[in-house]
Amino acid sequence: MDASVTPPRSGAPFEGSEPAREFIARVQAFIRDELHPLAAAHGITSESGAPRALLEQVWKRSRDLGFYGVTLPKPLGGAGFSLVDHVLIKEAIYASGSPFAPHVLGELTGPPRVGALAKQATPDQMERFILPVARAEKAICFAITEPEAGSDAGALQTRAVRDGDAFVLNGTKRFISGAPFCDFAVIICSTSDDPAARETTAFFVERERPGFRVEGGYRTLAGQSHTGNIVLQDCRIPAANQIGERGRGLALALGRITVNRLLHCPAMLGLARLALEDSIAHATRRRQFGQPIGAFQAVQHMIADMATELAAARALMLGVARTLDAGVEARAEASMAKLFCSETAFRVADRAVQVHGGEGIVQGSRVEFLFRLLRMYRVLTGTSEIQRNTIARELLGAAVR
Ligand SMILES: Cc1cc2nc3c(=O)[nH]c(=O)nc-3n(C[C@H](O)[C@H](O)[C@H](O)COP(=O)(O)OP(=O)(O)OC[C@H]3O[C@@H](n4cnc5c(N)ncnc54)[C@H](O)[C@@H]3O)c2cc1C
Repeated sequence: MDASVTPPRSGAPFEGSEPAREFIARVQAFIRDELHPLAAAHGITSESGAPRALLEQVWKRSRDLGFYGVTLPKPLGGAGFSLVDHVLIKEAIYASGSPFAPHVLGELTGPPRVGALAKQATPDQMERFILPVARAEKAICFAITEPEAGSDAGALQTRAVRDGDAFVLNGTKRFISGAPFCDFAVIICSTSDDPAARETTAFFVERERPGFRVEGGYRTLAGQSHTGNIVLQDCRIPAANQIGERGRGLALALGRITVNRLLHCPAMLGLARLALEDSIAHATRRRQFGQPIGAFQAVQHMIADMATELAAARALMLGVARTLDAGVEARAEASMAKLFCSETAFRVADRAVQVHGGEGIVQGSRVEFLFRLLRMYRVLTGTSEIQRNTIARELLGAAVR
């Protein structure tokens, strides 16, 4: 296969820093030499998921090699990479196709979940929650969504009621990534005395507390089961578990929403690149009517459109990363990147299935899995419609709010 024109084009100048280039080379070697064999030895696929013990092994090895904590603030051992470097690193990790991709930097339940909380955390919270996650000893998930509060996150109804030096939590969180194997959760609760008023506060909650239950058991479109519900029934936690000020819960959770939206893009584009590479390989190998299907203009055009759209999405992602690195506010642009990258990645996967014909719809083929996986990115972390709302609001201004 010659994938030299799939973005990023081989031989083209690397867009990030020299340390990031070196980091990517080391992380690719780790994935190739350790994670691919580990997945093969244990029969782990992106759909099957891995047992907690194996995940812990990956987290700790990644930490020992200096990958796991790289996104943390510098005083906690982070590398201080720019956002451009960060998206390039993530893109390379996801383009490896490893089922352990979300565990190398730990974005599912590791350091990226707590890095931004370090500023708010008390010394006691640093010891009990943040440092154990940074050291790869504990896993944490982040719970905002509820059965009746999705896009309208502010409508959340999980209640935290003060009782002496404790809070008592009641409610249900839904679709929480990593919940089935987390040790702690950051739970955003309503702390308003008037349930109609929107006042939210964030709490660290330990899974072992009585009244904390994880309901897994459902699989997402991509066949994965690492998303679950958290049910809180009279779950009593120390008041010392409150994160930051009362009333600042959603602000804290969504404080880095612009950056977080951008940081979903490299995962989608890394995965979409796999779909393009598989399509190029298939178009070259598969013969019909006495010639490779890649000789047919219809197939050529599908591949040309995939590569073109992927290159455009990638340029948008890198442009937004550069803007944010320059310290310029880019709320609308980050939503554009999330919108365009997720819609593009899915179109690329859709065409990849088409190029593969019947082989592309057989379960177990990689493009079939990528088609289902990439469909989800149009929903999570703000649906495409919510991104369009954000972009339009930023463009049209206060007059139409
Ligand atoms: C795999 C996966 C992992 C997730 N992980 C987490 C997690 O770790 N933590 C967490 O808190 N949440 C998580 N979520 C939840 C995710 O953030 C929500 O699914 C998402 O925000 C959409 O909410 P909803 O599913 O309730 O859809 P709804 O809000 O019910 O939306 C349904 C439809 O209505 C549209 N819609 C709603 N409001 C508007 C509007 N104002 N304008 C236009 N259209 C609108 C939507 O775009 C969508 O098409 C996860 C979801 C998935 C699928």
